[in-house]
Amino acid sequence: MAMLERNIFKEIIEGNIPANIVYQDEHCIAFRDINPQAPTHILVIPRKVIRTHADIEPGDEQLLGQLHSAVVKIAKSEGLSSYRVVINCNEGAGQTVPHLHLHLLGGRLLDWPPG
Ligand code: 5GP
Repeated sequence: MAMLERNIFKEIIEGNIPANIVYQDEHCIAFRDINPQAPTHILVIPRKVIRTHADIEPGDEQLLGQLHSAVVKIAKSEGLSSYRVVINCNEGAGQTVPHLHLHLLGGRLLDWPPG
């Protein structure tokens, strides 16, 4: 699927599109994926717009750490002892929404390698 032009996640941050939000703080927001690929499938995104993983810049390091800390908190609150964190970068890797997001997947056996 091609990358959307519209940044749906920015609209979720701004409250213009509803989402099932499970966590938020000053840096990030996390909500359940609309098309879950596992019993737990949560998207963790920065409030700052970063289009893709390849657009991360010097200065974003602290923010990236905060995103991962949020993942750990959410995984604990979801009761996940095993989980996978995925970032798809650009269309060839399956990215469809032009706003950096971490997929938190868990609640089932996750095979390796991924597709
Ligand atoms: P990507 O394919 O870019 O790595 O992941 C985008 C994810 O966003 C997909 O898993 C897709 O199901 C999810 N998604 C797309 N639109 C919406 C939406 O409006 N709300 C929510 N909660 N998830 C969405």
